Amino acid sequence: MLIFIATPIGNLEDISGRALETLKASDLILCEDTRHSQILLQRYSIQKPLLSFHQFNEKEREARILADLREGKTISVLSDAGTPLISDPGLPLVQACIREGIPFTAIPGPCSPILALSLSGFETDRFQFVGFLPREKGPLKETLHTLLFYRGTSIAFESPERLLSTLSAIEALAPERELAVARELTKKFEECRRGTATELLAHFRECAPRGEIVLLIRAGSPPETEIDLVEMVELLKELHGLSTKEAIRAAAKLKGVPKSEVYRIVHCI
Ligand code: SAM
Repeated sequence: MLIFIATPIGNLEDISGRALETLKASDLILCEDTRHSQILLQRYSIQKPLLSFHQFNEKEREARILADLREGKTISVLSDAGTPLISDPGLPLVQACIREGIPFTAIPGPCSPILALSLSGFETDRFQFVGFLPREKGPLKETLHTLLFYRGTSIAFESPERLLSTLSAIEALAPERELAVARELTKKFEECRRGTATELLAHFRECAPRGEIVLLIRAGSPPETEIDLVEMVELLKELHGLSTKEAIRAAAKLKGVPKSEVYRIVHCI
């Protein structure tokens, strides 16, 4: 049996009894970074064979892991922190297990985007997680357009080095939009700071952002959403060379709104 196990994202106490029991019963533990996982395993006096399993070797490890699983071994998978597979390795292995009918399961636990959502105070009934934001200006702007239009909370990973430039890009597109920066979750300096991009920029220019960061964008109010929709149609025309008609159709599809509504907004009817 293959078992993906969620591990702490800062506070080593955040691990379930079931996760620890499973680790103790494992024949092999796959670790994104064996040295990193050792800290957790030593804290709970778990000594098991470890094997590195990260984005650069997960494909080449696959055949050996599948062979061990077919022999009936219990193999656990850990990422450095949080829930494996969430912007972490493991997907090809899951897909191989599904393809080959090999049983696998996952033990739930810490997951920074979900914890950040709980702390944000933003709507939780509809949300999207988009992983790391693009680094380059053009793709970042394009992604932000999509996120700013989304009718729910958007959750993204961001680095301390890029937070200010991302906030500046949001400020230029949607200065009124409510954002949250969730930082160092479950750790000593945990904080969830809410505000517009301008407010957050003022704060983080004074106190340089440190540590691990999740950025959340609250859904905009309908008028703001309409402005975003017009911008999206323009952007689709500009970037993909679409005609207005094609861009309206694409924007409607991307946003899950009726074509007639996009047409009405774009043509101010
Ligand atoms: N699978 C992990 C999870 O479930 O949280 C996420 C892995 S991803 C490679 C690493 C990113 O998650 C970091 O760059 C940061 O954006 C976010 N992250 C991880 N731990 C965090 C924490 N304690 N506080 C805030 N963000 C965190």
